[in-house]
Parts: sequence; structure tokens; C-alpha cells
Amino acid sequence: MIFFRPIINVPPRFCWLISFLLLLVWMAVAVAPVSAARQDRLKGAKDCSRRLYKSKKRIRYRDQWKRCIQGYESYYRKYPKGRQADEALYATAKLYKGLYGYSRLSSDLSEAINRFRQVVKRFPKSRFADDAQYQLGEIYRRYKKDLERAYVEYFKVVMDFPHGDMKPRAQKRLAQLESKTGKRRSKQKLPRLPKVPPVALTSLSRVTDIRHWSAQDYTRIVIDVNGQIDYSSHLLKPDPAIGKPPRLYIDLRNSALDPTFVGAIPIGDGLLRKVRAAQYKPTVVRVVLDIETIEDHKIFSLSDPFRIVIDVTGESRKRVLLPGKGKVPSITLAQQLGLGVKKVVIDPGHGGKDPGAVGPSGVREKDVTLAIAKKLQKKLREELKLEAILTRKSDTFLPLEERTALANTQKADLFVSIHTNAHKNRRVYGMSTYILNVATDAEAARLAAFENAVSAKRISDLEKILNDLMLNSKINESSRLADAVQHGLLKRLPKNYSRIKDLGVKQAPFYVLIGAQMPSIMVETSFVTNKREEKRLASGAYQDAVADGIIAGIRSYIKQMERIPGQG
Ligand SMILES: [Zn+2]
Repeated sequence: MIFFRPIINVPPRFCWLISFLLLLVWMAVAVAPVSAARQDRLKGAKDCSRRLYKSKKRIRYRDQWKRCIQGYESYYRKYPKGRQADEALYATAKLYKGLYGYSRLSSDLSEAINRFRQVVKRFPKSRFADDAQYQLGEIYRRYKKDLERAYVEYFKVVMDFPHGDMKPRAQKRLAQLESKTGKRRSKQKLPRLPKVPPVALTSLSRVTDIRHWSAQDYTRIVIDVNGQIDYSSHLLKPDPAIGKPPRLYIDLRNSALDPTFVGAIPIGDGLLRKVRAAQYKPTVVRVVLDIETIEDHKIFSLSDPFRIVIDVTGESRKRVLLPGKGKVPSITLAQQLGLGVKKVVIDPGHGGKDPGAVGPSGVREKDVTLAIAKKLQKKLREELKLEAILTRKSDTFLPLEERTALANTQKADLFVSIHTNAHKNRRVYGMSTYILNVATDAEAARLAAFENAVSAKRISDLEKILNDLMLNSKINESSRLADAVQHGLLKRLPKNYSRIKDLGVKQAPFYVLIGAQMPSIMVETSFVTNKREEKRLASGAYQDAVADGIIAGIRSYIKQMERIPGQG
């Protein structure tokens, strides 16, 4: 009785709690018949397979196997998200595998493979997932005699379920397969060489993510890898016989797929259907792009962190140079095609965790670039009536490849990246505008190393990549834009400021400009490391003047384009 006393005297808040608990009890009772029915169904299937395996007579009859399979299947169909759905699906897979042992029908083995795969795919966190993955290895090793494939399946147990109880067994199988293939090799090809030690799993780089941006006729795919690796790519023709679209695949050597990565990313933007990734060989990850229609593609890598960028372009980007009678050789392609400027993407350099260069009294590049970019955006809209888009509107981090991806997907006509320069010698000052190309001098290479946040040594790697990329780039248009903007700045700033130095238009391999499909420049407004210029960069008036200078440059660039000889 004493137990009741506190309950009677409880404050109202506890009454709520008690009625809530009572409600829970009631619900449990009400739900009980349903889960009891579930349990019965599953128990029936379990009894069925127990009887099957016990009886030497039953086990020889196909319909006895099928009865048990149907038992589990009816549970799984009825409760595909039930608490024991994984167990039921796994049981059907195992039964099909067992049945194949007697029937030797390849269709039974296919059923088993499909179901084991479904367990791994649908219930990756289930305790049956690693068992199912291991079973796949067993099937390929024992029944299909496909040792390379078996190796991959066992390998996935180790990679994808590093904490699962099947890992030691899978490792044992891997070691067996390695010694087997090693022996065979030593008999045939390399009789005197010592056995090659198996690749240490930890030495592989991980493919951690695949990101993408897409527009009607442009898609950028970025593959993130946690270490520098070699890769190769191949374009495959469509194979209508097996319903395969044309495919572009990239093999990443010495790498493993991260277990958290989902196998396929649907894209469906008219260029690509989807992107898939799989552990193709023990040390090779294959990324496949299923193609709808593409005209061209480019692949390059960026470092720190290492990533592979694939730019895919569609038909309408391919601009045909029309053979015309009034063709004047001195005018540019953009002029010939009458392409006007309607949209500008402005890219405030750095941001978030990346402050860029920092001045002697603490002025940060990322804040200055954002302030100038916002002023530039406003002026472009008001004064030139252009559409102006910022790659970032606030103090957030944005990877370099995402900035050009935005410009490309937005189909911008111009791309202007805003930066402040830096030098270890604080007396260095001045303004310069850059275009993407191989570096012309040591100073440009040094700056590229800083802006790319990589070592200067890497710059030479990048220049190799560039040779390939430059074929399609808008180098002439970009340098015309850079000339105009540099000229605009040098005309505007001396009106209010003394000691404005012209460092000229330069070129260097900047990651942020790679793959931009429109004329693109990088404005190194002034040196934040120089005391005088740092103070100016932090002031609204100077930022306004810089924006005015850039506007004047863009205005004269557009005017040049409109002034097409023979049409005025
Ligand atoms: Zn910068």
C-alpha cells in the first residue's frame, strides 16, 4: 500500500507522465497481436528449414526447399522493413545457395547472388550484411571458380565491415587466394622471383566522395580521394546488345572505395544518366559515367586535398565558327558569333576556414574580397544592367572547383575572381590582373602556389595538366578582359590615391580558373601585406574605387566586342 501513497500525492506534471506511461503500456498490448503474427510467420519458416536440413529425404526434393524459401519470403514481403527483414532475406539467399548444391541449376545460384547482394545493399548495418558479403566470396570461389572476383568480394568484407565478425575469415581467404595466384604465377612467368607480398590494405587511398554540379549542357563531377593517386580514363562505345549506354570510366589505381559511399549517384541532366563507383579490382576503384549524350570531356586533378575533376559538355556548348564572307581575321570568336555579356559571376577569394593572406595589422583577404565583390555586384546591376552572381555571399568556405562549376552551370559570360596579393617583403605593392596559363615568371608562379594553397613544386605538375586544357580555353578573350580591367583600375585609382603601381597583366596556373568556360580573370587588387595598401583595402572608399575600376574595365571590354568591324 505504501507504494500507492506517492502516486496519489504526485504533482500534476507527474500525472501527465504516468498517463503517458499507461498509454505506452496500452499501446504495447494493442500492438502485441501484430508482432505475434509476425513472429509466427518467421517461426514457421525457421521450423521449415530446420526440418529440411535434418531430413535426408526432404533435402532431395526441390519443392521442399521452395516451401521454406516461400515461408521466409512471405515474411519479407509482408514486412520489408520489419525488425527481422534482414534475417529473412538472408535466409532465402542461403536456401538458394544450399539448393544449388543439389540442383546445380545456375538460376538458383543467380537467385542466391542477387539476394546476398540485396542484404548488403538494403541492410548495410545489419549483422547479416558482412555474412552476406562473405557468402558472395564463397560463391565466386567455390562455384563460379572466378578467383579474381572472389578476391574482390572477400576484400569488401574487410574494407566495408572492418568491425564485423567475418573479417578474420575473409582475411584468411584473401591470404589463400594471394598465395594461390602467386604460386601459379611463379610456375609460369616468374620462376625465380620471390613471392610478391600482398598489398597492405592500409596503403590504399580512399575514394571518399563523388560530388557533382550540372546544367543543361555542362556537368562537373569531382571525385574526392584522400591521397595522391594515378588514374586513367577510357571512353566506351554503347553496347545496344546488352542495353549499355556509352560510358566513360576512370580507373583509380591504389585506391579503395570508402564503405560509406553509396554505389551510384543519379544525375539525369541530359548529359549523364548516373555516376557509379565500385571496387573493380583489389586495388582499383572504377568510376563509371553512364552517358546520355556528350560532345566533349576533360579530366584533370587538383591537389591538397587530392581530387579528380571531370568536366562534361553537351552539344550546345560547341560553338561552330561560321565560314562567312565578311570574316575579318582580327576580330575574336565572341565578336564573330555576336555573343554579348549578360551574366557575370563574381568570386570573392577564400572564405570560412581559409582566410587568405593576412596583413600586418590583421586585415584578412577573405573579408576584403567579399566586401569588394558585393560592391561590384551592386554596381554591375545598377550601372551596366548586368546579371551579377556571387560565388559566396558570406564568410563561408568554398572549394576552388566549386567556384568555376557555379560559373559554368550558371552559363556566366564572364568570371571575375577577386583577391588581394601578398609578399613576404612588406614593401612590395601594386595591382595586377591574371589569366590562366603557365606561369611567365617566378613571381607569378609564387603567387599561384599561394592562391592554390599548394607547394611551388606542385605548380609544375599543374602546368603539365594545363597543356591539355589550354586547347579549349578562352585564352584570347580572357587576356582581352584582363587588359581592359587592369587598364580600368589604373585609370580610376590614381584619381584619389597616390602611389598606385601597375604590375601589369600576368598569367599563372590558378586552380580557380581551370575549366571555366567563359573569359575569366583573377584581380589581385593590392598587397594586403603592405601597410599602406592594407589600410586602403580595409576602407570602404578604396573598395568602392576598386569596384569602379573593374566596372570600367568590363564596360570597355563589352564595348570592344560591340564594335565589330563591318557592322557599325
Ligand atoms: Zn587570394
